[in-house]
Amino acid sequence: MSVRVRYAPSPTGSPHIGNLRTAIFNWLFARHAGGTFIARLEDTDRTPGRYVPEGIYELEASMRFFGALPDEWWVYGGESAPYIQSHNLPYYQLCAERLIREEKAYRCYCTRERLDAMRTEQQARGLPTGYDRRCRHLSEEDRARNEAEGITSVVRLAMPLEGYTVVKDEIRGDITYENRLQDDQVLLKTDGFPTYFLACAADDHRMGITHILRGDDWLSSAPKLIQVFVALGFDVPKMVHLPLIIGPDKKKLSKRHGATQFLDFVDQGYLPEALMNFICLLGWSAGDENRELFTVPELIERFSIEGISEHPAIFDYEKLKWMNGHYIRGCEPGRLIGMCLPYLRKAGLIPEAPLSSASDDEKETYRIEVLDYVRRVIPLEQERMKMLSEVVDLVGFFFAELDYPNGYEEKAVAKWLKVPYLKPLLEKQIEVYSALAEWTPEALEAATREISEGLTLKFAEVIHPTRVAVTGRTVGPGLFETLWAMGKERTITRLKTVSERA
Ligand code: GLU
Ligand code: ZN
Repeated sequence: MSVRVRYAPSPTGSPHIGNLRTAIFNWLFARHAGGTFIARLEDTDRTPGRYVPEGIYELEASMRFFGALPDEWWVYGGESAPYIQSHNLPYYQLCAERLIREEKAYRCYCTRERLDAMRTEQQARGLPTGYDRRCRHLSEEDRARNEAEGITSVVRLAMPLEGYTVVKDEIRGDITYENRLQDDQVLLKTDGFPTYFLACAADDHRMGITHILRGDDWLSSAPKLIQVFVALGFDVPKMVHLPLIIGPDKKKLSKRHGATQFLDFVDQGYLPEALMNFICLLGWSAGDENRELFTVPELIERFSIEGISEHPAIFDYEKLKWMNGHYIRGCEPGRLIGMCLPYLRKAGLIPEAPLSSASDDEKETYRIEVLDYVRRVIPLEQERMKMLSEVVDLVGFFFAELDYPNGYEEKAVAKWLKVPYLKPLLEKQIEVYSALAEWTPEALEAATREISEGLTLKFAEVIHPTRVAVTGRTVGPGLFETLWAMGKERTITRLKTVSERA
């Protein structure tokens, strides 16, 4: 039987790290096994605030981002369509009706008030909360009367009152739950929408799902889900619960720790391959190897259910940054520049690209003044960049309108632009640099060495003030590459401004 797995998110907002991992693990498992990866939208909970229709697009975007594209899903369709549960309500309703006929489910007419009062009393008496199964035992006449009166009802599963349900988790082994402690789960709501339990079991069957890989927050409700499969007479797919993701402080991962949602990671500038590599190691390992860096084909080749851990996975932000830095360093410069451009635009450091309807002159100017400049500048920071968003801080001084002392780091100014030899130094540099025939890092360095010898200054005594005068700060890429990238005009202008105001 060939593997068919599904990623079954609910559109409740921006996908979080747990969703991303579930999607990626299912995708890898399907690819490894030569099986089918399905994405199915579980959108039957319409509670305001929990139903975020636009979230669908982000779910989709996250899979595209990683290149973990489903073989069948709501975007392209597939042989098990529909992949959006709300498009298939009659199917779940038929399933529920069949269960009622077979006396495996029943209609419950209890009002919200009654259920609330019951709950309050259970809580007051320190009892476990749950439905008291009153309507399970209604007589034929009572039921008929309720129907005749038009009282709305939900459909509940008639949980077996005795015995045990065993969740056979492929990683954790058998976990046994007592049936009498399980609630008579609602399967169909008054609005005709199924609950998660009914829709999930019905679709896993309909779609021929062989394995369920999902977060372990679903483990405790697994016995109820299994009982829905059993009641419907459907085989239960193999189950794998992925371990909890925790922060470095061992607490459940949350916003306090850092980025947790897909868009946060994208905004901060993680490369798809870095994030994919990192997420794969959240609860999975390749075995004996102590290796951390894997290409996607390597991940597909090695991925196995046996490699999944049952212990919580620590989300180490430092490791993610390190990994991202690794992938940024290995990036083709053009790709890196392309990925950095939106950050520079958003920060207002470079203008938007001209539209295709713009004049050739405009396009040419943009290419020379903006793109060529960006192309010189960004590779200078490729070694140091750990997140794309850092580009704004790393290269901002190349683009910002520095106007000494505005935009200059105060400490840097105090330390290096107050030296007694500043003015003669800058004047000499302006003179020598202006006359340079060749504007290359090598020529700039040679000229600067001559200047420092001529003024009997140590090379460092020249380098530091020059860097601060031109960049406004003390750290950055190599000075002569910086000057080269900046170009003659910008360099001289900045030197002049500082010199005049020194
Ligand atoms: N709709 C559930 C979720 O949002 C799916 C749980 C499952 O995979 O069974 O995660
Ligand atoms: Zn009831």
